[in-house]
Amino acid sequence: MKPARAAATSPESKRRLAYFAERRDPIIATIRELVEIESPSDNKAAVDRLSEVVAGKFAALGGTPKIHRAQGFGNHLQVDFAGKTSAKPVLLLGHYDTVYPLGTLATMPCQVAGDKLSGPGVLDMKSGIALMLAAIGGLREWHGALPRPVRVLLVSDEEVGSDSSRSITESLAKESSSVLVLEPSYRREGALKTARKGVGEYQVKVTGKASHAGLDFQKGVNAIVELARQIEKITAFTDLQKGLTVNVGIVSGGSRTNVVPAEALAHVDVRIARMKDAAGIDKKIRSLRPFNRKCKVEITGGINRPPLERTAGVAALYAKAQGIARDLGWKLREAAVGGGSDGNFTAGLGIPTLDGLGGVGDGAHAVHEHIFISDLPRRAALVAGLIEAA
Ligand SMILES: [Zn+2]
Repeated sequence: MKPARAAATSPESKRRLAYFAERRDPIIATIRELVEIESPSDNKAAVDRLSEVVAGKFAALGGTPKIHRAQGFGNHLQVDFAGKTSAKPVLLLGHYDTVYPLGTLATMPCQVAGDKLSGPGVLDMKSGIALMLAAIGGLREWHGALPRPVRVLLVSDEEVGSDSSRSITESLAKESSSVLVLEPSYRREGALKTARKGVGEYQVKVTGKASHAGLDFQKGVNAIVELARQIEKITAFTDLQKGLTVNVGIVSGGSRTNVVPAEALAHVDVRIARMKDAAGIDKKIRSLRPFNRKCKVEITGGINRPPLERTAGVAALYAKAQGIARDLGWKLREAAVGGGSDGNFTAGLGIPTLDGLGGVGDGAHAVHEHIFISDLPRRAALVAGLIEAA
């Protein structure tokens, strides 16, 4: 489905769309440059290489980069831009790590075919970084300086849970008026994400007792059978009406068919739409007790990303985005999604957060990952407008 396109309604919006349309090729060149510096989350040297290139690009626009050094992960990059006012900054949030191992470019090159620009991380979320650069560059040209302070935070570990960057994201969010997350938009229509589910991960470990399945069957305590019963129980915690899902995604256990298994393990993914459901599901999982008293059941893990809920603050920010899009001749939509991002952390602190402001495309984390080039100008104009208005 091709999104409906209408003419921009105000002269200023027309001018801005034309400005970014004229700069489409340099924006594509920037995206290509970022994609061609591969940056898998688990390769610190590679991510740091990209971090330096990105820091240089923001510095060239007048920003002051600050590197947050990280152990075991790539460094995180903060860039501060002064503005004409002393208002609280708006935080542009994203990540430069990708899920693709080094060498992926050999089989998945960055290339243009018609309206599609494809390559590893092009949608999630290197085009988002290029849109930040384009929007900041535009605002500086139009106003002579940024109309208000802007802070950029790009982290290196979003794709692997953000353990190393979370405290930085949260402390910078607390100092900001609002947070704009340039993660991929939703579907071909490019909808913004005004709700994301919270995410939890648990491990359920069962210990029984090993024995020879032929000689000593009755001396054994079968951990797999116990885990199977636990899985049935855990699965029943799903409550679709509340947007609460529990997925047993990985199971393992046993060693040989002729041994009664002493150990079995399940990895469980939990999603919650509402923060008020977090404590309840956490308690239910932690309260699991063995059906067979000869087994031991141990639970580890917890809820690690709060949900991004559509609070009044989020709705107000979305309404501003809709107004800007309307001026640009475009009916913007919103979506609630199951996947989390670092926007979950900032929204969890009560800071108005708008997510999905990045590229429009498909295939994040997949071989066909791509963005649509023709959407770039209006996305850049939307981000620029939101920096002024948020
Ligand atoms: Zn992402």
